[in-house]
Amino acid sequence: MKSFTKKLLSVALALSVMVGGSFAFTMMTPASQAITTDNTWNGNAPKYIFLFIGDGMSYPQFTSANDYLGAVATEGKKVESKNLGFTEFPVTGSAMTFDSTSFCPDSASTATSISTGHKTLSGVINMDEQKTVAYETIAEKLKKQFGYKIGVVSSVPINHATPAAFYAHQPSRSNYYDIAKELVNSDFNYFGGGGFLQQQGKDGKQKDILDLATEKGYKIANTKDDILKLTSANDKVIAINPELIDGAMPYEIDRKNGELSLADFTRKGIDTLYNETGFFMMVEGGKIDWACHANDAMASIKDTVAFNDAVQEAVKFYEKYPDETLIIVTGDHETGGLTIGFAGTKYSTYLDQLSKQTVSYESYDEKVADFRNSKTSFEIALNDIYKNFGLMAANNPNATSNSNMVLSDYEYGKLKAAYEMSMLPSADRNLTEEEELLYGGYEPLSVTITHLLNNKSGIGWTSYSHTGIPVAVFATGKGSTLFGGYYDNTDIFVKLKALTNVK
Ligand SMILES: [Zn+2]
Repeated sequence: MKSFTKKLLSVALALSVMVGGSFAFTMMTPASQAITTDNTWNGNAPKYIFLFIGDGMSYPQFTSANDYLGAVATEGKKVESKNLGFTEFPVTGSAMTFDSTSFCPDSASTATSISTGHKTLSGVINMDEQKTVAYETIAEKLKKQFGYKIGVVSSVPINHATPAAFYAHQPSRSNYYDIAKELVNSDFNYFGGGGFLQQQGKDGKQKDILDLATEKGYKIANTKDDILKLTSANDKVIAINPELIDGAMPYEIDRKNGELSLADFTRKGIDTLYNETGFFMMVEGGKIDWACHANDAMASIKDTVAFNDAVQEAVKFYEKYPDETLIIVTGDHETGGLTIGFAGTKYSTYLDQLSKQTVSYESYDEKVADFRNSKTSFEIALNDIYKNFGLMAANNPNATSNSNMVLSDYEYGKLKAAYEMSMLPSADRNLTEEEELLYGGYEPLSVTITHLLNNKSGIGWTSYSHTGIPVAVFATGKGSTLFGGYYDNTDIFVKLKALTNVK
């Protein structure tokens, strides 16, 4: 009887909301007005449009960077965040990210939503759910209808899903060679950052993409000198970072002094694209996502800082042309289920401890391979882990002055087990269900080191994949007011369409 009454009550409540609710709610609680968002614009179009996408970057990724920078600045003595510039833009919104496949979407479908205003399946680039209809992107429309110059920049391969979603239309994001051919035929003006995956096709027997690009009038710039010399006199350019790992730029934490950064590629993009008619440039910080897949908080934070440095190049441009420039900074989805707070550290965080990490998991994987090949003992490996991550056993001479970085017996056991697994050739590892969850397909020793360091610093992870929380949208400049509120990621396209008046 009781539960029946409860049910009746809740039905009555729901009905009252449905009947008179929407009017009463929006009038009485101003906060709920943020749910609605404005997609109309009567002013002139912004001439220079920057769209920055941090791949895998949601609230936890930039908040952990802000908090880490504050913790380092105060040596962990105060609770203070030191905010990345883009997080202080005057307009803020949130965008929902689910796609037609999942609440945990992928980069192909989410970038499709942002660039064309359509939801689609995970893995699909600018095509409908049946994979038969191709959608025109905001970049293509701006080029075709108004003669804007177009730039696409990424720290990961330039034919990877996010950059591809501004020039390609493919049933599968894995069609790298076909995507690259669309790049070559796009007639876009500037591609910068990473190289190409499957540059000579899946079988390695197709014509090299760079040769095809040259035939189509592209200048290939792949030395630092050539890239830094680029100007607006270069009409069609593909600028490829001289240092590549699997076609991507190195992690910021691994980038050596003097090597080009995402900010350099953004600045050179501005130099190349600048013209009187206008330009649209998409810049992706692609390895924030990769770091979070691998549960490496320090690599994620450093790449988020590098991403912010790239945004600051656009801010400098905006300061010169404030009435004509729009800058949007967003993410495509969250990766890793990163959060600030961990069961083991309760209400405390020790984020400044992350600064003890000197290399990414990716770079350390090579070290682990050396350990395996030369049958390095656990004691020697442990000493190296101390040097590169600050973690230490209780018998380390520095243990008393750094008690927080000392491994408990439980943590020591986890590290030792991971070391033993990593010493086996990968083909000989038969992982149990628990080990699958512990290592997520990554090098057991590297991922265990970052898990331990992250957890001891008060950072938690729930996944090696993408998760379903919304992303932030920050905007400044002409037309930026449209980006306030809580809306669907497809609205980012709708807003750009309204602002620029493309058909
Ligand atoms: Zn991802």
